[in-house]
Amino acid sequence: MDFTRNRIPPVALLLLAAALSAPSCLAQNSPQMPPSPAALLDQLNAMISGGKSAWTPEQLSVMEKLRDAAMKDPYALDQLRHLTSNIGPRLSGSPQAGQAVEYVAAQMRALGAEVTLEKAKVPHWLRGAETAELVSWPGQTPATTQKVVLTALGGSVATPENGITAEVIVVDDWKQLSALPAGAVKGKILLFNHKFDKELAAEGEGLDAYGGGVVYRGAGPIAGSAVGAIAVLVRSVGGADYRLPHTGLTEYAPNVPKIPAAAVSAEDADLLADLATQGPIKLHLTLTPQTLPDADSFNVIADWKGTEHPEQVVIVSGHLDSWDLGTGAIDDGAGVVVSMQVIHLLQKLGIHPKRTVRCIAWMSEEEGSEGAAQYMIDHKDLIANHIGAIESDLGADHPTGIFYAGKPALGQWLRPIAQILDPIGGERLVSTPETGEDIGGLTEKGVPSFAPIQDSRYYFNYHHTAADTFDKVDPKHLAENAAVMAVLAYALADSPDPAPR
Ligand SMILES: [Zn+2]
Repeated sequence: MDFTRNRIPPVALLLLAAALSAPSCLAQNSPQMPPSPAALLDQLNAMISGGKSAWTPEQLSVMEKLRDAAMKDPYALDQLRHLTSNIGPRLSGSPQAGQAVEYVAAQMRALGAEVTLEKAKVPHWLRGAETAELVSWPGQTPATTQKVVLTALGGSVATPENGITAEVIVVDDWKQLSALPAGAVKGKILLFNHKFDKELAAEGEGLDAYGGGVVYRGAGPIAGSAVGAIAVLVRSVGGADYRLPHTGLTEYAPNVPKIPAAAVSAEDADLLADLATQGPIKLHLTLTPQTLPDADSFNVIADWKGTEHPEQVVIVSGHLDSWDLGTGAIDDGAGVVVSMQVIHLLQKLGIHPKRTVRCIAWMSEEEGSEGAAQYMIDHKDLIANHIGAIESDLGADHPTGIFYAGKPALGQWLRPIAQILDPIGGERLVSTPETGEDIGGLTEKGVPSFAPIQDSRYYFNYHHTAADTFDKVDPKHLAENAAVMAVLAYALADSPDPAPR
């Protein structure tokens, strides 16, 4: 990743110091004279901001107002409390997801935004019973079992109602699986024990740590089924040590039998792996989820209409659906409420940018991004009118800046915005190929896209677990995220020329 930290180059400071200390008689009208301090300040500013700012001083001061208002305003936090504690988990197709759609729409209408509910078919999967016990292992005390903590993966098929009992084969990765003798997994339960890279997460690269493990959660059941396993377990993709299983979407392939799939806590994965090195182990596994017919649901679209180019839109967004174990505070209630906060601040401060600011609460990101896919179909002829798209979907911890995807020129263009965000510690500008799952389609079509760079050191401790609850969101950090969203959205929506693309 390209990394641009918005600091004044030391050489520029030296130049400035030299100019400021030069006798003023030297700065008379001769073309041979060194530049005046004022001209040097302009040059210095150009070095910092990468050239002429795309915004007027008045627009930059509006950005400062938005930033400062966001830091003081409890709107996003209040909305998050309602979405998580009052409405609760918002699984695709569930009554709570439906209630959340109505709620966000009503809140946006109350601010004077033009609200549209855009229909999308979404999966409707229901969690059932999920239990597992070791029933046979080396050194077992007769007539005892050991509980194994797990949770069904989203989309998983069920075991028979009374469960299955089978030997567990443990592998760390694809390589170990392919090295097993033919038939070694047939009729057995296969555990992928790929460890989450906590050191990588601690260094701030939580998303990369997640990426290393999530492939087993996604494709494990296909690989397991292909070699004859009757169920697949994956070690939870997450960082904390509180015996918490992390759910998430799993996948099946058309011509491979669907087998039940669950995530075990990291501690239980270690237990199974350790005992399996001592001798055969057997597990009794019961999962009874159901997959109901796809349900009708909606993306909530709330437009704060532009004054000069209402047809041109800048998206601010998060996804409204969540997994069902917790209440979806960090994933991704936070992303939705900081997007709602943008509309709230524009209304409260009476700001009407040239272009339309479109708040979107996406539906069903967790179960396949069906809402976003439908948006790309419904708006396929209007992509050129999408001037920029922002999604917040990496929690609500302190944002250190802005991820951007698009032309390299975007980095320079963003520099004045980075300066506005510097006082809240949000001055980094980092180029990345992807900014958010729901805006991925727009990114692919060349729409400049953005995301706050949230501190991801702790995000994957709670992600997709029962511990993703309202208390995990720090009000100050949430406000900082709202500030990033509001400043960036306004900058995109009011610049004289659209962002480079
Ligand atoms: Zn998410």
